[in-house]
Amino acid sequence: NNPHVSAVVERLCATVPDYPEPGIVFKDLTPVFADGPALKLVVDSIVAKFAGKFDAVAGVEARGFLLAAAAAYATGTGVITIRKAGKLPRDVYAESYALEYGEATLELHQEDVPAGTRVLILDDVLATGGTLGAAATLLERTGAVVAGIGVVLEIDALPGRENLPGREIVSLLHV
Ligand code: AMP
Repeated sequence: NNPHVSAVVERLCATVPDYPEPGIVFKDLTPVFADGPALKLVVDSIVAKFAGKFDAVAGVEARGFLLAAAAAYATGTGVITIRKAGKLPRDVYAESYALEYGEATLELHQEDVPAGTRVLILDDVLATGGTLGAAATLLERTGAVVAGIGVVLEIDALPGRENLPGREIVSLLHV
């Protein structure tokens, strides 16, 4: 990893103990998104690692949308929205999974992604890997190919990578 990029993320990331529950150390990257040069740096750094390998970018609601839209725009590709349950109006696939805190369901329109599309999936934080695993499964159910996974920050104490076997994962900062 480029040490300059990691240092920018580390400097701007806010660490919030006991949010949203006691025992969770929340890594808040909203200051990275709010900083123009930092946002450009993180998006450009992630897409550079997957250059030529994807046709679309998927974001996981909600913070992943910010990264995915920027990455798609920067590379002239389309953006795919993977949403929390009940938000998408047409026929969906749904995947439920366990979170570091609680449980959740993600959904994807069945017809948004042409079969064979190579999709780069983006989110802000890789914690247990449940969210990104569900996102990858949803895309594969539509016939898409998962080109890789990009996150700004990865929590090394949690088994995110182990829960995403065989996936190419890029993280700009490990904590
Ligand atoms: P996971 O499914 O456990 O990998 O969690 C990843 C998702 O939950 C991402 O969308 C993150 O935004 C959020 N998340 C989980 N744990 C944290 C944490 N400790 N700090 C910040 N975000 C987190």
